[in-house]
Amino acid sequence: MFKAILFDLDNTLLDFLTFKKETAKAAAKAMIKQGLPATEIEVYGKIFSVYDEKGIEYQKTFYEVVKQYNLELNLAEKIQQAGIIAYQQKKYEVLRSYPMVKPTLRKLRDKGLKLGIISDAPRNKAWQRLVLTGLENEFDFVITFSDTQEYKSHPSPFTLALKKLGVLPDAVLFVGDNPSKDIKGAKLIGMRTCLARYGQHFKDDVKADYEIGKFEDLMRVV
Ligand SMILES: [Mg+2]
Repeated sequence: MFKAILFDLDNTLLDFLTFKKETAKAAAKAMIKQGLPATEIEVYGKIFSVYDEKGIEYQKTFYEVVKQYNLELNLAEKIQQAGIIAYQQKKYEVLRSYPMVKPTLRKLRDKGLKLGIISDAPRNKAWQRLVLTGLENEFDFVITFSDTQEYKSHPSPFTLALKKLGVLPDAVLFVGDNPSKDIKGAKLIGMRTCLARYGQHFKDDVKADYEIGKFEDLMRVV
């Protein structure tokens, strides 16, 4: 019945929250080791406060954290760079797709389904994460925030996906973890929806047509 499946990226295909937590812990530890006068729990909390305030993709997080301690500029820079390096190293170590993502994507493709991504991440970050997790060649197309300058649930990225697919919206299943962005946006445009319950860290304010508790359960939906 479906001709295409579209996926959100972070917390749907990739375990993004684990990655953000582990990198924040590693960065906090490295910054304290270089002289930041604080505890790990305090710095970890400050990193997530910046994410809450500026968005999880904010690029000057460690600068914002270190700034709060009014340190001499060279010491502050050393600490900030130590945080950035620790974050990067940890990222390569921990950023992974959820179990069974790749084999399940292959099975879906074998059924003749087109596969695409709609992500709110910037283009460079989305592709970096796909390459890091080995999923860079599994999709017919990837739409990021950089393509439409609109975040889900805005219709623009969904409309662009339909244009690329050339199918009617009700022949498309959208899989995502965020009810108010993924599920709401896909519903608005007339797609069928599936909530990735395993990645969901948000309130259930919009009901999806289907739910999956693990990625491979998608095979029972399509
Ligand atoms: Mg997500």
